[in-house]
Amino acid sequence: MEKKPFVTKEQVEEIVKKYPTPFHIYDEKGIRENARKLKAAFAWNKGFKEYFAVKATPNPSILRILHEEGCGTDCSSMAELVMSHKIGLSGNDIMFSSNDTPDEEFAYAAEIGATINLDDITHIPFVKKACGSIPKRISCRYNPGGVFTLGESKEGFQVMDNPGDAKYGMTKDQLMEAYSTLKAEGAEEFGMHAFLASNTISNDYYPALAKILFSLAVEIKEKTGVQLKFINLSGGVGIDYKPEQPANDITKIGEGVKKAYEEVLVPAGMDDVEIYTELGRFMLAPYGHLITKAIHEKHIYKEYIGVDACASNLMRPAVYGSYHHITVLGKENAPADQTYDVTGSLCENCDKFAVDRKLPKIEMGDYLAIHDTGAHGFAMGYNYNGRLWSAELLLRENGDVTQIRRAETIDDYFATLDGFWNLDI
Ligand SMILES: *Cc1c(COP(=O)(O)O)cnc(C)c1O
Repeated sequence: MEKKPFVTKEQVEEIVKKYPTPFHIYDEKGIRENARKLKAAFAWNKGFKEYFAVKATPNPSILRILHEEGCGTDCSSMAELVMSHKIGLSGNDIMFSSNDTPDEEFAYAAEIGATINLDDITHIPFVKKACGSIPKRISCRYNPGGVFTLGESKEGFQVMDNPGDAKYGMTKDQLMEAYSTLKAEGAEEFGMHAFLASNTISNDYYPALAKILFSLAVEIKEKTGVQLKFINLSGGVGIDYKPEQPANDITKIGEGVKKAYEEVLVPAGMDDVEIYTELGRFMLAPYGHLITKAIHEKHIYKEYIGVDACASNLMRPAVYGSYHHITVLGKENAPADQTYDVTGSLCENCDKFAVDRKLPKIEMGDYLAIHDTGAHGFAMGYNYNGRLWSAELLLRENGDVTQIRRAETIDDYFATLDGFWNLDI
């Protein structure tokens, strides 16, 4: 699909009078519309709920918007639990799908009533000790092992990932044992979770995963007498980072899961199982841009454009070689007749937002919108090379722009060194 930025050059010229580049900006309207589409796609399931994966975009203003659209949060750390609780969430609005978890995080999760999703069978005694008892509502994470593939064609598999090599979840035998033990320990409401593939571009991923989990739920009921209250399909529904990629169709995905539900769960008398999702990327990625300014051009063996953002603001291209589309604002319709590497300032040659990218001719001072940075963008930032965290802004539905996190200052950067800093070196 053609990639159009949700801000114009004129809007950015206004914004930078108050908030200089680089910054991340999110589109409230897009976020809300997409959340409503997801909800509609699963409206056939009475208990459906999306638990937004906080790690994708850990900002309370974003969590609040999603909560207004009926979403809870999926947390993986103390800070994410605290953030969720501080915006007013508790109990069944919070999922805690962590791994390698310290005991104080389990204790806090239990205290605020979050649903703990156990990553391993050994976490049963660990949680019991950390929380005083096994929580009444609890979930287990399943890992089927092997290789997960979907839709083979001449070009290869539509989806291929490697659960057998992943550190998460329990084997099937452990899962069966875990439910029996948890029941004996007094648990009353049970869930199951699995995450088999990341950033999938396929309307078949969730339905295929659902079918595996639904069949297993029937087997769990037969073997242990435990009837699951919910099945959590977790994250992994991807987005079309490249304009030529097809987009996922969440309505079709919802229909596919419904079909599996009717084929497997309903005949087994399990027609009240609630379906949950823990999407991060799908919920936010397309509704964020990293806005940055061209500040240098360099003509050596290649043509370089240096911008004022760097990999510490968005690490995916540097670390994974990920494609992020770039629009030169105000030149949306100009011919893309130049070939550039678009670079940041880190002393690492991988700090390139784009390599050999066809773009319109860029002048110094032009603003670039880097697309699809709303998830795993700001969130994966870091301070390497003494680079500071950028601001996060929100484009409201009425066109206003609100700062939802200020940029880090050099004083923030030095704040954790206070003894040293006070020496006035
Ligand atoms: C990362 C993660 C998610 C979200 O994944 P996306 O690919 O962003 O949808 C959901 N659940 C768990 C447990 C995760 O670790």
